[in-house]
Amino acid sequence: MEAETTRSKNFIEQIIDKDLEEGKYAKIVTRFPPEPNGYLHIGHAKSILLNYGLAENYKGEFHLRFDDTNPTKEKEEYVNAIIDDVKWLGADYGGEVLFASDYFEKMYEAAVFLIKKGKAFVCDLTPDEIRQYRGTLTEPGKNSPYRDRSVEENLQLFEEMKEGKYADGEKVLRAKIDMASPNINMRDPIIYRIARMTHHNTGDKWCIYPMYDFAHPIEDAIEGVTHSICTLEFEDHRPLYDWVVRELEYEHPPKQIEFAKLYLTNVVTGKRYIKKLVDDGIVDGWDDPRLVTLSALRRRGFTADSIKTFMELSGVTKAQGSSEYAMLEYCVREDLKPKATRVMGVLDPIKLVIDNYPEDMTEEFEIENNVDDENAGTRKVTFSKELYIERDDFMENPPKKYFRLFPGNEVRLKGAYFVKCTGVDKDENGEITAIHATYDPETRSGNGFEGRKVKGTIHWVNASDCITAEARLYENIVDEEKGKLNEDGSLNLNPNSLTVLTNVKLERYLEDAKRGDTFQFIRNGYFCVDAKDTTDDKLVFNRVVGLKSSYKPTAGIINE
Ligand code: ATP
Ligand code: MG
Repeated sequence: MEAETTRSKNFIEQIIDKDLEEGKYAKIVTRFPPEPNGYLHIGHAKSILLNYGLAENYKGEFHLRFDDTNPTKEKEEYVNAIIDDVKWLGADYGGEVLFASDYFEKMYEAAVFLIKKGKAFVCDLTPDEIRQYRGTLTEPGKNSPYRDRSVEENLQLFEEMKEGKYADGEKVLRAKIDMASPNINMRDPIIYRIARMTHHNTGDKWCIYPMYDFAHPIEDAIEGVTHSICTLEFEDHRPLYDWVVRELEYEHPPKQIEFAKLYLTNVVTGKRYIKKLVDDGIVDGWDDPRLVTLSALRRRGFTADSIKTFMELSGVTKAQGSSEYAMLEYCVREDLKPKATRVMGVLDPIKLVIDNYPEDMTEEFEIENNVDDENAGTRKVTFSKELYIERDDFMENPPKKYFRLFPGNEVRLKGAYFVKCTGVDKDENGEITAIHATYDPETRSGNGFEGRKVKGTIHWVNASDCITAEARLYENIVDEEKGKLNEDGSLNLNPNSLTVLTNVKLERYLEDAKRGDTFQFIRNGYFCVDAKDTTDDKLVFNRVVGLKSSYKPTAGIINE
C-alpha cells in the first residue's frame, strides 16, 4: 500500500512507508485534533489536508477529534464552526466526530495505572515551589519531597483529588521521571490538576483535568492512531509522549511526527492575533473576508480546491519558512479561470451616451460565458443609447499609449460596437458627468467586420436595465511594506484593507446570482456573492482576487 502520487514523497510518507514495510502497523490512522478555542485558519487547513491526504492515499482512517481537555476557553460555537470547515475542505472523517473529553474516565484509569507502577505521585508543592524545584536549562531540578509517597497513599490522595476534597491548585499528580533530565519536559511533569471548571461536554462531573502532554498520547492510543502528526513546537515534548505510551504499555503505540507550521507572508495566522482583531472590533467577526480563517476565506470566495493546490505547492517540511500569499491568490485564480462565468460589471460608473443611436432602440448581443470553457454557453446582454463604463476608461488629456476613450479616439465596446468619443458634459465644478460618443453600425460584433482596427476594448453595461450592487475590495489587513508587527508588538494595520463601492453596475444576468456564486468581472477580478450581508434587495460582492499577478509558480509544479 503505497501513496499514489507522482511527486517525490515527503519525509512523513517516507516514515510511513518504512513502518508499513517493517510491519509496525497494519493500517494507517491519522487525526486532526483541534482545540475548540477559536476558528480554524489556513494553517489548520495544512494539518487537516496533510492528515486526511495520508489516510486517503494509504487507504487508512482519518479522525476528527476535538482536543477539549482544557475547559476554560472552549465553546460550542467553535466546535460547530470547525466541523463545517473540515467538511468544506472535503476531509472525510468517517461520520463520527470524536471528543477527547469522552476519554476522561480512561485517562483517570491510566493515571491510576501509573501510580500503581510507581510512576506517578501526588505532589503538594505550590505552583511557585514546583517552578523553583524544576531547575533551569543549565541546572538540574530537585526531587519533590513528596516524590517517595507510597503507592497506597498516592492512590488514596488521587482519589480524594477526584472527589473534590482539595482546593484548586492544592495538589497535582506528577509523572515520576527524572528531575535531572536535560529536557525540562521530563522533570516530573504535572499530568493532572484540580480545577473546578464546567466543561462543555462533561459539565461538572470532573474537578480534575489531565494536562495536554498526558492526555494527547492517550487519546491517540485509544483511537488506534498510528502517526500523530503535530507541529515543530512539540518536538521537545516527544520524549514525554513516548514515555506515556510506553509506561501505559499500549500494544501498538502511536508515533509522534513533527512538521513545520504554515506561515504566510504579511498575513496574520495564529488564533491569538485573529482573536484580538475580532475582540477589538477591527474586523467584522471571525469570518471577515480580510482574515485567513477558513470561514473568512470561504466567505470571500476562495475554493476548497484552491486551498488544496496551495498546500501541495507549499509542501511538507521540517524546516520553518513562509509561503507567499501571492501563491494562494495564484491558486484560486487558476481554479476559477475555467469555472467562473465572465460578466461585465462597472465598479466606478460614468454614463456613456451614444448620440447617434436611436432613442428607443434596444439590441441584444450574445456573449460567451467563458472563452476558456467551450461548454459554458452564451448569454444575452442588452445594448441601448445610454450605457455605463468605468470612470477611468476615459481621460480628457491622456498620456501616450493610453488606448481607451479620449476625445477623438475610437474603442471597441466588448461584444458590441466601435464607439468614438465626441466630448463630455461637466457640472458647475468642472466634474465630468457624462461622456458622449457616436457608434458605427458597421462594426457590430459577430458580423465579420474586417475594416479598421482599434487598440482598446472596454466593458460596459446597459443603463436602463442594469442592476446596482455593492462590492468590497480588500488588501492585506497588515501593512505589507512595514511588516506585520509594530515595535511594541501590536499589529501594523493597513488603513486601506477594505474599500466599499456602493454603486457598482452589473449586467441584468446577475439578477439571479446566489450567495456564494463566483463570477469574473471582466478586467476587474473575481467576485463572490457575500453569504452574510447579501439580502433579497441588495447583492454584496467580495473581490476574491484581482486578475493580474506578479507571482509565477516554479516551473513544472503545476501541470497545465
Ligand atoms: P494557533 O497557533 O493558531 O493558536 P493551535 O496550534 O493552538 O493554533 P490547535 O487547535 O491546537 O491550534 O491546532 C490543531 C492542529 O493544527 C494541531 O495539530 C496544530 O499543530 C495544527 N496547526 C496549527 N497551526 C498550524 C499551522 N500554522 N500550520 C500547520 N498546522 C497547524
Ligand atoms: Mg493550541
